[in-house]
Amino acid sequence: MNFLSLLEAKRDGQALTAAQLREIVRACTSGQIPDYQIAALLMAVYFRGLTPAETAALTLAMRDSGEVLRFPADPRPLADKHSTGGVGDKVSLPLAPLLACLGFRVPMISGRGLGITGGTLDKLDSIPGFKTLLPTERTIEIVQEVGCVICGQTERMVPADRTLYALRDVTGTVPSLPLIVASILSKKLAEGLSALVLDVKFGAAAFMPTPEKAIELAQAMVSLGNDCGVNTRALITRMDAPLGRAAGNWLEVKEAVACLSPTSLRRPSSPAPATGDVLELVLVCAAHLLVQTGKTGTLDAARQAAAECLASGEPRRKWDEMLIAQGADLEAFDRKLTLDHTAPAVLELRASGAGYVSRCDARLIGQSIRELGGGRLTRESILDYDTGVDELAKPGEAVGKGSVFARVHAGDTERAESARAAIASAFEFSAEPPLPPSLIHKVLAETRDAR
Ligand code: URA
Repeated sequence: MNFLSLLEAKRDGQALTAAQLREIVRACTSGQIPDYQIAALLMAVYFRGLTPAETAALTLAMRDSGEVLRFPADPRPLADKHSTGGVGDKVSLPLAPLLACLGFRVPMISGRGLGITGGTLDKLDSIPGFKTLLPTERTIEIVQEVGCVICGQTERMVPADRTLYALRDVTGTVPSLPLIVASILSKKLAEGLSALVLDVKFGAAAFMPTPEKAIELAQAMVSLGNDCGVNTRALITRMDAPLGRAAGNWLEVKEAVACLSPTSLRRPSSPAPATGDVLELVLVCAAHLLVQTGKTGTLDAARQAAAECLASGEPRRKWDEMLIAQGADLEAFDRKLTLDHTAPAVLELRASGAGYVSRCDARLIGQSIRELGGGRLTRESILDYDTGVDELAKPGEAVGKGSVFARVHAGDTERAESARAAIASAFEFSAEPPLPPSLIHKVLAETRDAR
């Protein structure tokens, strides 16, 4: 293959054929082509774009660059959710066991934190003994037996994405829409799904700054997902403020468990109940998947079914089952859950007057958590899972003089003190109640007519 002529064709704005894209992916993963030529091709794609047909061909070639999960025949549909990432986004954690209890199989292959946004695997790593790296055979076994698994991609799954993403990361080509679509969907298609719900975020701490950009990305993914035989929908959601009341790996696991713990079944030691936005997204994602797979006829009925299932306490037990299957020490986990905090230093931020929270900037909160060691500054960074922020007051909420609007969890008092100003600067207060911002901006199903 003459790689140079293919990259020259893309540089000149020509469309590549599916066969050429397959050749390119094969060459990239086999190590035949030097990084500088792949990097040049990525830059050509960044500027010239890809047609929908090229994006589809690239996605399928990337999916087929490695192992694809193959499950035994089973009446339970295979379903998953993917979020483009945000601060405090712990929705996957309660959603997986809820979906398993609703009769789905959920092979949730997740990722680590990227930039200031948290990663599901990093959150799960805060659970004593929990294994996020499993052999493929074990992943399939757990899905079949328990109904859900949340684990990382093995070396053998979508190796093309690993090569291409690493080069995009260092060549300024991450924000290319077709490359994002191919990267995300190739991994989801390798799970062998029949239904997928995407949570495409926009706002201060999101990958996409505006709703328009998020819709553009979502439309491309919904369209391609459906073309590839996976019933795909997208929620366009706001990520200006952190989701829920906690951000930081272990603190988010606690909040996820609270979301799974219906009030009637809560033990006195349980963490405080999750706020509406986490629960809302969990129920809405589950409801869409129920409708997408024809298990329920309407969204209202599906949401009701999901809420009732959550209230039964069954998904909380399913969560424990998943933890045991993935090697967690359940006793140590339960003990850890009962603790108010696990970080050595905790510091409260209190309001200097009465008013309403008018802003809580998720980007600033995410940056502070990264500074506290809860996120990565370099690929080699070692995380401090217990750091973060909880008891976050939500935009629109009233605060009294002296009431706590955030708690910082840090490795030591000095670091807690130095995070104080940054966390405080994320908040703005007003005398009048602000209009509550809508969480779900739009839902996209089929986009064939939009192309
Ligand atoms: N997440 C991915 O997996 N890939 C991208 O390109 C961007 C976000």
